[in-house]
Amino acid sequence: MPELPEVETTVRGLRPVLEGRRIRSIELRREDLRRPFPPDLRQRLTGARVTGLGRRAKYGLIDTDRGDTLVFHLGMSGHWRVDPETIGKHDHVVIETDEGRRLSLNDHRRFGSLDIVESAALVETEPFRSMGPEPLGESFDGAYLADRLDGRSAPIKAMLLDQRIVAGLGNIYVCDALNLARIAPGREAGRVARARFDRLVAAVKTVLAAAIAKGGSTLRDYAQPNGELGYFSSEWRVYGREGKACPNCGGVIRRRTDSGRSTFFCPKCQR
Ligand SMILES: [Zn+2]
Repeated sequence: MPELPEVETTVRGLRPVLEGRRIRSIELRREDLRRPFPPDLRQRLTGARVTGLGRRAKYGLIDTDRGDTLVFHLGMSGHWRVDPETIGKHDHVVIETDEGRRLSLNDHRRFGSLDIVESAALVETEPFRSMGPEPLGESFDGAYLADRLDGRSAPIKAMLLDQRIVAGLGNIYVCDALNLARIAPGREAGRVARARFDRLVAAVKTVLAAAIAKGGSTLRDYAQPNGELGYFSSEWRVYGREGKACPNCGGVIRRRTDSGRSTFFCPKCQR
């Protein structure tokens, strides 16, 4: 499932194809993904010039000179393909630029989404309205986290996954950040010491930045045969590494499952 680093890598890969270009056509090859496409999507995008691309949490944002923002979410299996040689049945949306370059949004499980909103109203639109700060942004720091989690009895891991507290973190990077910060995933959030919040925030930024750097290096040689953006194999610290050695202390990484979600952690050094 694409997490924040995959979305960031995707946006960086789309930028050289789209930024400053006019959208010659947009073909909707079905009526919906997770939900129906907006009825005016094609009309609002056709002929518009892309003025910039960005990301908020796990959403990609494509701004146009008409004051609109195309908002995409990759769901479970979505990805953009650059100049695909053939268009298959899982390519649901195809955009062509004035340079004749083509992008297809391919999503075989169709949990992704595509919306268009007025750029000026974006921050007031759900889900953005209730989102916490970006994990890589300056306002996400130890003081913020200590303040938000003061008195909370929920596990620290659940709090980091709460998009209202910090936006865009998923299971993989939360597991890895908690391991790097040596904090037990089940620890009561309100009982984490202040200095450890600083360490936790630093760990979140470190694991995300490392993954984005890794994704960026795959873009540089993105002669990937299928032109797929945003997917790369990361070397995770604990995620998916049950039974292997903890990178901090050499202890054995364990896996716990609650409500269908796996938690990977080292019981020896994470307290
Ligand atoms: Zn350990």
